[in-house]
Amino acid sequence: MPILEVSRLKKYFPVLGGIFLRRKGWVYAVDDVSFCVKKGETFGLVGESGCGKTTLGRCIMGLYEMTGGSVRVQGTSISNLSSVQKKTLSSHLQMIFQDPYESLDPRQTVRQILEEKYRIHRKTHGDLSTEIRQLLENVGLSQDSLSRYPHEFSGGQRQRIGIARAVSMHPEIIICDEPVSALDVSVQSKILNLLLELQKTMGLTYVFISHDLSVVRHMSDRIGVMYLGRIVEMADAHTIGHHARHPYTRALLSAVPLPDPEAAKQRILLTGEVPSVENPPPGCRFHTRCPHADTICRKSEPALAATENDPGHVRACHFF
Ligand code: SF4
Repeated sequence: MPILEVSRLKKYFPVLGGIFLRRKGWVYAVDDVSFCVKKGETFGLVGESGCGKTTLGRCIMGLYEMTGGSVRVQGTSISNLSSVQKKTLSSHLQMIFQDPYESLDPRQTVRQILEEKYRIHRKTHGDLSTEIRQLLENVGLSQDSLSRYPHEFSGGQRQRIGIARAVSMHPEIIICDEPVSALDVSVQSKILNLLLELQKTMGLTYVFISHDLSVVRHMSDRIGVMYLGRIVEMADAHTIGHHARHPYTRALLSAVPLPDPEAAKQRILLTGEVPSVENPPPGCRFHTRCPHADTICRKSEPALAATENDPGHVRACHFF
């Protein structure tokens, strides 16, 4: 049984306008997204900014109420839970945020930040002080960090505090929402390696969200590529990297910087603006920017279907 099942998830936000702030329409942030994640694997979600990947992560966390569909964690639906069940679930499901500074209370010391989780969930496996010291060691922070405040740390160190807080409850699943995009390139690989190491030692399952396909490929076992609120291609990381079918995935791949100047020449430049999620184009949502768009693409929306030789590789395209 998958540890996480997302089924036909939809999240629409109302667009209000006029002097009475009546609803004028909807922002279709996430529109009919389904995928499963097995225990111990990393499922990557990649797409341009505004494609709905962060909203999707927040729906899984229960931070946004879903408009439709369902999320099941270890077989249990996260909808309609009692407050006790919600509390139990929240210790199994944790999130690492993009901006570690905003997600940490500036008035609390690291000790207070970490102790708060234990206090809320009353979950210690021994002496609290020893457990917190071990936690700091596991994420590569020195013991004197405990008495310091978030502003006294660098961006990378603050993300280590965020990671320590997320793993402190020994969760089953962690949603990593752009965990390195706010960090210097020199620090990014250290944080990614820390996440991989913790996954190995603690048996964690990740949903790894990023706009950067090279980072997602490095981290993930399987990848879902999102465009305008929908998954347009999904497969294991090797297949996405070497045998992508969807023109949007190919364009993302071609944008990954390569040292070879010949390869750089083959970059697929997408023209046109990303359409509004408030008013997605009819037919294939990608047709306004796709270099292969044809008449059928403007009229009929392609279904997410498996490729001939690989049932685990699905893509939504009439031609590829
Ligand atoms: Fe491009 Fe048409 Fe395929 Fe959409 S269905 S990705 S517009 S070729």
